[in-house]
Amino acid sequence: MTTTCLESATSGLESGTSSEPLAVLAARAACALECSLQRLVLASDQNLGHLEVQAAQDVHELLRQTIERGAQAKADAMPPTCPVCGQPLSRLSTGHPRTFESRFGSVTVQRTRGYCKRCHKWRVPADTALGLEETAGYSPAVQDMAALLVSKMPVEEARAVLAHLTGVQLPRATLDREAKRQGQRAQRLRTELDQQAATEKRQLELTLEPYQMIIQLDAWNIRERDAWGKSAALRRQGQEPERWHWVYTGTCFRLDHRGHTDGGRPVITERGFVATRQGLAELRQQLHAEALRRGLSQAAGALVIADGAVWIWRLADDRWPQARQRLDFYHAAQHLAAAGRALFGEDKDKLKAWLKPLIKQLKNESAIKVIHKLEQALAALGPGPVAVAVAREVDYFHEHQERMDYRAAQRAGEPIGSGPVEATCRQAQCRFKRPGQFWSQAGDEALLCLEMFWRNGRWQLLFPHTSFNPARN
Ligand SMILES: [Zn+2]
Repeated sequence: MTTTCLESATSGLESGTSSEPLAVLAARAACALECSLQRLVLASDQNLGHLEVQAAQDVHELLRQTIERGAQAKADAMPPTCPVCGQPLSRLSTGHPRTFESRFGSVTVQRTRGYCKRCHKWRVPADTALGLEETAGYSPAVQDMAALLVSKMPVEEARAVLAHLTGVQLPRATLDREAKRQGQRAQRLRTELDQQAATEKRQLELTLEPYQMIIQLDAWNIRERDAWGKSAALRRQGQEPERWHWVYTGTCFRLDHRGHTDGGRPVITERGFVATRQGLAELRQQLHAEALRRGLSQAAGALVIADGAVWIWRLADDRWPQARQRLDFYHAAQHLAAAGRALFGEDKDKLKAWLKPLIKQLKNESAIKVIHKLEQALAALGPGPVAVAVAREVDYFHEHQERMDYRAAQRAGEPIGSGPVEATCRQAQCRFKRPGQFWSQAGDEALLCLEMFWRNGRWQLLFPHTSFNPARN
């Protein structure tokens, strides 16, 4: 029985007769599955993994034909109207084939093409309906996989992981191009969503408890090489063909969405992310839109927490003038330590004895007391490099004094550090700053944008066939 079953299954796969009803293909696949599971029992060198792989192969052709017929049926059902403006198409012609890679192998569809007199463009309504418009030849599920894998790991690895886990074989360069194409689509969608967020009149949700919106900003740099093909010429002129560019990063969350796991680890249950290498104006717009989506307009107040970088506080003053500002406690402590090192040099014990109580005072009492101590130390110094170094830190503390309300923060249960945004930067750098990696501006913005859609739980807006949300699954 096993032999006949196997033979009929194999011959069916080879002939690949697309005129057969799915029920016949399914019966043949079922037969092949029966054989495979019998084989598992008999083969002493196979474990369940062998059946898992074989079973997927047994139904592969059934699935491929299902996709192909589904695509054709949907294409045939499309009315000959322009998918952009709705105008009936003229000069219709049928039978335009398009072959693309699907989750289950190569698929070909015959489509109808027509001319839209209003748009002055040739249109293929089926492409829009099938989700094939913005792709170099991949089904939506493959677009999804390419976008996700390449935004998570280097292309060569992505290619191998994709082939191993799904059987989908894409050349490295094609995979790279497809991921970036999806990233550019994500950028256009992001612009749309940000404009919506900025203009939308939010329905006032009934908020039971007033909450604070926390906004954190930081930056890290990325190595880019825009002058591809000109490296040798640039080197002859004594220029290295690489440059470092800032990736501006931000995160925002409601204070009441911050909590602790059962194990006591701090967690933020809902949080928005932004990362862009397109400059401060872009960051400002994207982060504001993200904060609005996360409830900024209904918040009782907003609080910006960051390190001492000048651009951050300028942006905060300008974009969120009502928001309170707080300097990351760890950065403040580092500046105290810098003053201490200037004062005590290599004497670690003295440094420690001086620094520890000051840090405690800064955290639990007030910045002004710490500033007085620093000023006393400065007054006792003669002119010289030590005085210059200590004076620099005195200035720093004066400049940020209003942002060092750590005692009040702790009493209000607010964060005193910008750990969440720093963690976000670190994670992004793990992907975008590997040794030997160079990026181009267009390429890295596209992939960063994909990564942010994923993190923000908006992947399904790009790929409506999936309901997967990494924040909830
Ligand atoms: Zn049109």
